[in-house]
Amino acid sequence: MAPTETVACTTCELHAEAVFRVEGMDCNEEVVILERRLKPLAGLEALSADLVGQRLHVKYDAAKLTTSAIVDAVGQTGMRIWLEHEEPAIEGGDIAWRWRLVVGCGAAILAGVALQATGRTVESAVLFTAAAVAGGIFPARRAVTAIRSRTLDINTLMVVAVAGALMLGERLEAAAVVFLFAIAQWLELRTMERARQAIRALLDLSPREALVRRDGADSRIPVDDTRIGDEMLVRPGEKVPLDGVVTAGHSDVNEAPLTGESLPVNKSPGDEVYAGTINGHGALDVRVTRLVRDTRLARIIHLVETARANRAPVQAFVDRFARIYTPAVLALALVVALVPPLAGADAGVWVYRALVLLVISCPCALVISTPVSIVAALSGAARNGVLIKGGAHLERLAAVRVVAFDKTGTLTRGELRVTGVQALDSISPREVLRYAAAVEVRSEHPVARAIVAHARETGIEIPSATHFASMPGMGAQAEVEGVRIAVGNERLFDTLRVPLPSGVDLTGARHDGESIVLVSRAGAVAGALAVSDRPRETAREAIGLLREHGVRWVAMLTGDHEPSARRVAEELHLDEYHAGLLPEQKHGFVRSLSTRHGPVLMVGDGINDAPALAAADVGIAMGAAGSDAALESADVALMSDELLRVPYAIRLARATLRNVRTNVAISLALKAAFLVMAITGATTLWMAVLADTGASVIVVGNALRLLRAR
Ligand code: ADP
Ligand code: MG
Repeated sequence: MAPTETVACTTCELHAEAVFRVEGMDCNEEVVILERRLKPLAGLEALSADLVGQRLHVKYDAAKLTTSAIVDAVGQTGMRIWLEHEEPAIEGGDIAWRWRLVVGCGAAILAGVALQATGRTVESAVLFTAAAVAGGIFPARRAVTAIRSRTLDINTLMVVAVAGALMLGERLEAAAVVFLFAIAQWLELRTMERARQAIRALLDLSPREALVRRDGADSRIPVDDTRIGDEMLVRPGEKVPLDGVVTAGHSDVNEAPLTGESLPVNKSPGDEVYAGTINGHGALDVRVTRLVRDTRLARIIHLVETARANRAPVQAFVDRFARIYTPAVLALALVVALVPPLAGADAGVWVYRALVLLVISCPCALVISTPVSIVAALSGAARNGVLIKGGAHLERLAAVRVVAFDKTGTLTRGELRVTGVQALDSISPREVLRYAAAVEVRSEHPVARAIVAHARETGIEIPSATHFASMPGMGAQAEVEGVRIAVGNERLFDTLRVPLPSGVDLTGARHDGESIVLVSRAGAVAGALAVSDRPRETAREAIGLLREHGVRWVAMLTGDHEPSARRVAEELHLDEYHAGLLPEQKHGFVRSLSTRHGPVLMVGDGINDAPALAAADVGIAMGAAGSDAALESADVALMSDELLRVPYAIRLARATLRNVRTNVAISLALKAAFLVMAITGATTLWMAVLADTGASVIVVGNALRLLRAR
């Protein structure tokens, strides 16, 4: 991601944002060090760290600060940092040296043990000391920077522990700790790196090049160099490199990478195709409509990445605990080192036990246990077409007790169909449809789309309209060929004071699963359209699964009229429904559901239901692949139109919270066990170091299982 530099005020400030990768930022202490180092820089506006991604998001004033100044400042802490889109400067020398020292340290320990066995204790002691010092050089360097920033990081604690062990004459022990610490850090780094790659691989779907036709010649060019309006060729079986509109050819495209929906979608001229999706058997000519950084895929990746910064409350709890834990254990170490010896016990024994406490005072496994689970869950969900905008939403999703659905386009099919057209005296059915379509071209409501599609199929030339006004929850109106046309439900006609013709029942549907839309011309009802409005095939199954997942109450809030609402509610065995609601009224019912039954999840299609989505504890918008508003505004966006993703999201959220709890329990239990063993003298320094790494590795491994959760 390139730093986006947007000019807010030309004379004074240049607001800019940059994302850095930081190597060596593995635990909270490093974040504190970074903050202490960067906060004083003039022009720095905001910092947020993503431990799992090892990324640092920086907002700064480009008039006062540069990215290279930030890189320099971080460099002084001993961590490596580079702008995310740049290759890191290779510091091979440093790393090679570090490894030479570690290998040397290991060799010296082996040699020392051999010498000790032959009784040459002086030589072996020298070797052990040398091993401890050589292996300790790098941790000591990091410790110095940490102390300068007035923080205690794991390096500092280790250095103190090793120095203490040396002073106590436990030279082999000191050397072993240094050696194991290096191995442990390497192991942890590897584990986290693997986690990062697994998570990124899920999102890194877009091809790097596109086959573009310019001036009659085809050439493969990097996607960064393509322009809007370029003609690109997508061969059978290839990935679509950029978003665009099909200009020629027919094919079936697998949109699963984007929507999580594996059923291929037919594409023919005029249809949109999206970057990252996989072309089937046909060849397609596609006109590029979005630059590479604006594709839907790019926006999804961006949303998932910013979602990580949105922290879950559990995470805050763990962090708070960690902040108390470390000082508490350090205080305990001090007590253990001082009190028993003052009471006459052997100082060597108790100081050693205090040193073990130092080693286990680092809360790293605990701190990492929560974010890895959450990030793994968010990434796995994104892969299944469910975009959850952060850990906090995930946590609330797990607590949901009530689900409220919007009806039209949510519980019922997104693709409605016009099933009949009726006209009153002076006008033909074809005219009614023509007028209605002229108004509805401008609306994105599912009813509107059905009307427009039907008019086109019937071969009607749709006239243009002016003065269009959408009346959310009721319909729309506009001026067509100089006459005022209104299209919508009874309520709209009440509002507009258009009398309904007496004796003619235009409001009741003729069949089950039909909804009636009225059309008026110049203030008088001219006709009506019947629109099929059947529940989706999977609606029943989805609701059944929700109940299995512990949802106690399922409700429907709709703007449609009572008869259609009742039919859907009965067919799906809903617990409660309310019809004839305006968007603002849905908001009120969501609040009342919440007070009566507990945390509410509202599921809508993002059209006319934004207030309800916002009022709920969690709002899910469906079909977000096709609607920008839904993608941006909801807490959770379903890329597909598949209702079954709703129970999936709840199940995943619950699994994630369980995973987090297991991780926290594992790391706390290990800490507690070692705490007791340290005080009673049942453990050694090197065992404590091993336990610490073991905990991190187990916790990360457990979290990564969520990537595969279904
Ligand atoms: P729901 O709550 O069921 O999703 P909405 O609040 O979006 O429904 O709309 C409620 C009712 O208002 C629809 O059932 C339809 O009768 C009417 N309506 C809304 N927008 C339009 C429109 N653009 N054209 C025709 N009717 C509309
Ligand atoms: Mg709706």
